[in-house]
Amino acid sequence: VIRLDRGGKSFGDNSVFSNLNLAVRQGEVVSIIGPSGSGKTTLIRSLNGLETLDQGVVYLKEKPFIAGREEGLSMSLPKAKTEMLELGMVFQSFNLFPHKTVLGNVTLGPHYHNRGSVGEIRASARAILSQVGMLAHENKYPHQLSGGQQQRVAIARALAMNPSVLLFDEPTSALDPETVGEVLRIMADLGKSGRTMIIVTHEMKFALEVSDRVIFMEGGKVVFEGSPDALRDEFCGMPVSPISSAFE
Ligand code: ATP
Repeated sequence: VIRLDRGGKSFGDNSVFSNLNLAVRQGEVVSIIGPSGSGKTTLIRSLNGLETLDQGVVYLKEKPFIAGREEGLSMSLPKAKTEMLELGMVFQSFNLFPHKTVLGNVTLGPHYHNRGSVGEIRASARAILSQVGMLAHENKYPHQLSGGQQQRVAIARALAMNPSVLLFDEPTSALDPETVGEVLRIMADLGKSGRTMIIVTHEMKFALEVSDRVIFMEGGKVVFEGSPDALRDEFCGMPVSPISSAFE
């Protein structure tokens, strides 16, 4: 459903990755793991244009969606990026609208993009909030919630636009340890329900339990790619760090 062909990105002299390929099928859960600075966050942000690629093309549902700066202008890219709405993003630092309630955060996108009547949008938002266990808090403001609760609202907000692909950029890195599990559980449920998800994470145990495929990046290169079982075999007995106690 989404594919990066020959992606390349540098910040000044610092080449983060080059000639990188990534393809994710409908319904697949793919985790991207690897040491700090290996380019995971830059890669996931390049998929939805939050970072501008230098080289390469991102295809969404087989159509060119984003082209690197050096790909020339001949590429027939969509003019209005309504395709952007096909990609839901969940950030490390939640990025909720502080002056909006929980319900307001979840209904804002659908209202803005005319996804239904006020009543329909609210009903759908409440159903999603219930799915992430946050309906009881619908009238609270972000500052009244724990980090884990805020992140669950951020997931609900992304889901409210019914995106084809959910992108997660280290969604639990900013959380207190005791609230990490509640967010990972929601993500695991989403994966089981058939959502297409690409997850940058340091939660190795979670990645191994929930992903269909794990991509291990190091120094801007994919050094391993395969099923969790294959990854376990590859790194058998070796300390793959950091190992978290995701669900404990
Ligand atoms: P972490 O797990 O620590 O988040 P990461 O694998 O996600 O690391 P990136 O954040 O993608 O790695 O960073 C890859 C490289 O790109 C690093 O060397 C980083 O310093 C550099 N980099 C990232 N963002 C920028 C930026 N906006 N400007 C300049 N350099 C950047």
